[in-house]
Amino acid sequence: MQNTAEVVIIGGGVSGTSLAYYLAAKGIQEIVLLERENIAAGSTGKSAGIITHYFPDPFMTDLDLKAGEILRNFQAQVGAPIDFTKSDYLYLLPHTDILHFKKAVALYKQKGIPVEELSMNEIERLNPAFTSEGVGIAAFVRDAGYADAHSVAMGYAQAAEQEGVKIFRGLGAVGLKTRNGKVRAVITAKGEIETNIIVNAAGPWAKAVGLMAGIELPIKLLRHQAMLFRPPFQIQFQASDLVQKVYFRPETGGYMLVGGGEEDDELTENPDFFNRGADTDLVADLGARMTTRIPAFAESEYITGWSGLLDCTPDWHPLLGKMPGFEKFYIACGFSGHGFHLAPMTGTLLAELIVDGKYKTADATALSVERFHTGPIFRRSFLDT
Ligand SMILES: Cc1cc2nc3c(=O)[nH]c(=O)nc-3n(C[C@H](O)[C@H](O)[C@H](O)COP(=O)(O)OP(=O)(O)OC[C@H]3O[C@@H](n4cnc5c(N)ncnc54)[C@H](O)[C@@H]3O)c2cc1C
Repeated sequence: MQNTAEVVIIGGGVSGTSLAYYLAAKGIQEIVLLERENIAAGSTGKSAGIITHYFPDPFMTDLDLKAGEILRNFQAQVGAPIDFTKSDYLYLLPHTDILHFKKAVALYKQKGIPVEELSMNEIERLNPAFTSEGVGIAAFVRDAGYADAHSVAMGYAQAAEQEGVKIFRGLGAVGLKTRNGKVRAVITAKGEIETNIIVNAAGPWAKAVGLMAGIELPIKLLRHQAMLFRPPFQIQFQASDLVQKVYFRPETGGYMLVGGGEEDDELTENPDFFNRGADTDLVADLGARMTTRIPAFAESEYITGWSGLLDCTPDWHPLLGKMPGFEKFYIACGFSGHGFHLAPMTGTLLAELIVDGKYKTADATALSVERFHTGPIFRRSFLDT
């Protein structure tokens, strides 16, 4: 095994593989990526793969837009198919959130995002199977889509390997050697890799990797469930129904992918031990909520369900930049349920910080972990604008 590297990336999810790809594209020669299982074995392999706008602030909206552009053109740019499907996105919010959401819609319009507010009649016209019960405001975004997150990570990994990145699958970092704010080596079961630059892209395990250097990252883990149903109708678009606290999108073969809102998510302490299936009571509960929105959903067949982990920060925005107290120890984690659609920007921005010493595409300093000490922190979603 290789025992020196210019950069060692810990974690082969969509964040770590994206970074490996963009670092190699910037000419870094000796890049090692350690993945203790397989590429996309963590949250990436569980992702719903939705690409839309979730944030209420101009900076994150710019990142969404830039990342979405790369995902739409992934095959041409990175060279791998990712099953990208263009699919409009419907937002449904309760009466209590009308003012907040109007501000987000105004921001999106200002950014040139094709978004329009819908009247209650228009929701039902969009798809006659829908009811507008409990909806105070609705909007439709026309530049959204979804893709296969596993294929995105595989695509980045394979393209990075073609550029000379060494990916070790089934080999985890078990310890770090650091001294006086400098990194020295990553310890694995097969020996040490000496390096001056380490990146923690370990998703739900990022907190454990931080602790290897004595730093406690502000991340809590939530177990998040998604399910596949076969409904007796077709939908052509995706939706976040924040009245019923459920999101859904079409899936190939006439299926529908349905996910629960965060109130259904359960705190998990150890990312190695959690129930990876779906809970029977949540299947029934999400089914009932879907039926309130779309009465014909009652006739749906439940196919399967799964759980993954969300690595959530206190403001539900990512941690990107340097590990506090270290010169060349970087982090890309805490994606709080948004790591898939942001991944092209995660890799692009962190590669700039590492190679050029500063962000170029967008100044992402605001995402540094220091924000929780120095402020300001982000507003969590357009619900609390
Ligand atoms: C059910 C579900 C639905 C989701 N839907 C969406 C969505 O629609 N849109 C969206 O943008 N996001 C979504 N997300 C969130 C998204 O999937 C994640 O934010 C994203 O995949 C995080 O990628 P990552 O590379 O940071 O972490 P991960 O994919 O978890 O990768 C981390 C990797 O690090 C490896 N690792 C851990 N410890 C070590 C170690 N010590 N040494 C070496 N390797 C290590 C792990 O094996 C893992 O492969 C969803 C998440 C879930 C669970």
